[in-house]
Amino acid sequence: MRSPGTCTLVGAGPGDPELLTLQAVKAIQAATVLLVDDLVDDAVLAWARPGARIVHVGKRGGCRSTPQAFIERLMIRAVRNGEQVVRLKGGDPFIFGRGGEEVEHLRAAGITCRVVNGITAGLAAVTSLGVPLTHREHAHGVLFVTGHARAGNGNPDWPALARCAHEARLTLVVYMGVAGVQAIETGLLQGLPPGTPVAVVQQASLPQQRHAVATLGALAGTVARQKLASPAVIIVGDVLAGLAACAQAPAEVRTGAA
Ligand code: SAH
Repeated sequence: MRSPGTCTLVGAGPGDPELLTLQAVKAIQAATVLLVDDLVDDAVLAWARPGARIVHVGKRGGCRSTPQAFIERLMIRAVRNGEQVVRLKGGDPFIFGRGGEEVEHLRAAGITCRVVNGITAGLAAVTSLGVPLTHREHAHGVLFVTGHARAGNGNPDWPALARCAHEARLTLVVYMGVAGVQAIETGLLQGLPPGTPVAVVQQASLPQQRHAVATLGALAGTVARQKLASPAVIIVGDVLAGLAACAQAPAEVRTGAA
């Protein structure tokens, strides 16, 4: 009898393959089929066993990213065919990675999916700058926010988020925010002072990492001037105060992990 197929959603971390968990490495080694997202660095695939089928389902694999429904059908079919399927996603599968949707669809098809956490980009980004996401003096918590919501689902309420971050002393970590950075700056300025420290970290944890440190009032201008681009996270909050104090006005850009 054919052995039963399995499905594991694996967080590949922010890029540096050294940041994979042991569970992730073991799952990748055991996989017969790997469905790989765009933001997963190729170096991570070095752990795959020879002969494993590797399917790139992000933009790098074809001209446009593969529709979500097609990926889910592919996963279900492969599991039913007895494959050991690993779905590799950048960062953590449950932070803006549509991991939740995939688990739900698999569950509806009667397939249980194991999930292996990965280091999310926002955490790797601040760590690369040598600052924490929380700090007893500066930040009592963290908000992970997407910079652009699904079409028709409304954009994040930046003024409300800013007020909340200000009053409750929270660090804001914005994913997918570079394209809409002007709207984010304008919205956040309705609840946070213009001098609030911000950092933009592009390709965190990779050798080509770049980052800029500025203030909220200079955020969009800094991104434009320094040509910072996706994938990048925007960090907002006083945990960056030490860095902002060292940065030369109005912004500092560095290349490579700090
Ligand atoms: N699940 C992922 C996030 C996927 S959404 C995670 O937990 O990290 C895609 C967004 O993640 C990108 O637009 C960018 O905002 C962020 N991102 C992913 N990898 C990144 C990296 N190496 N450096 C900076 N931002 C990154």
